Amino acid sequence: MTEPKITELRPMPADWQRALAVVAHPDDLEYGCSAAIATWTDEGREVGYLLASRGEAGIDTLEPAKCGPLREREQRASAAVVGVTQVEFLDHEDGVIEYGTALRRDIAAAIRRQRPELVITLNHRDTWGGIAWNTPDHVAVGRATLDAAGDAGNRWIFPELIEQGLEPWNGVRWVAIAGSASPTHAADASAGLERAVRSLLEHRTYIEALTDEDPETYARGFLTAHAERTAERFGGRPAVAFEVFSR
Ligand SMILES: [Zn+2]
Repeated sequence: MTEPKITELRPMPADWQRALAVVAHPDDLEYGCSAAIATWTDEGREVGYLLASRGEAGIDTLEPAKCGPLREREQRASAAVVGVTQVEFLDHEDGVIEYGTALRRDIAAAIRRQRPELVITLNHRDTWGGIAWNTPDHVAVGRATLDAAGDAGNRWIFPELIEQGLEPWNGVRWVAIAGSASPTHAADASAGLERAVRSLLEHRTYIEALTDEDPETYARGFLTAHAERTAERFGGRPAVAFEVFSR
């Protein structure tokens, strides 16, 4: 019997200066992606975050009116740990974010404001691979982000954005999907891993509601296992995997 062939992941594109990461919830980037972001900001690149919701429906024991502001604070602290100061929130409702033109317009507007070459989002597919079902918010935001990268460059789509002074930006060259079951590329996570752990730990209220495990043991265990699985396909280096769509 022959061993299944392991396809090596390619290094992420490096010729860019600005990235925008667009996700549904606080903590979406910290569960796997922020080690790469720490490395990129170390290199002097700019990374901004755009969150479709404040994650207000994410903690069973905390009502949304109290949960939203708390998770927004935790997300800003978490971003600061990996060198990200630009954090914007849209007001889509956590848990029932709808894929559609309203969401595409909001994301396209942010892309026009921030003019990134690289856009990052989270898995837009129905599953995480196999039978692990994804959440509808991730699917909606992931798909809308892939679409909005094109919308941002077309002046005739959402002409109201031009009236608001947001000229088209057709400079997005890649949309990179974190958490994809079919990754194509990876970013070295060695230098950023420790900060990624601290970044995830900033979501302390969420983690404490989620697990009885010590939060630091939990965060380190999760992120290290993730980076080591990717290392098997990236020359043994701990890494963050992405599925990259070129434009
Ligand atoms: Zn999420």
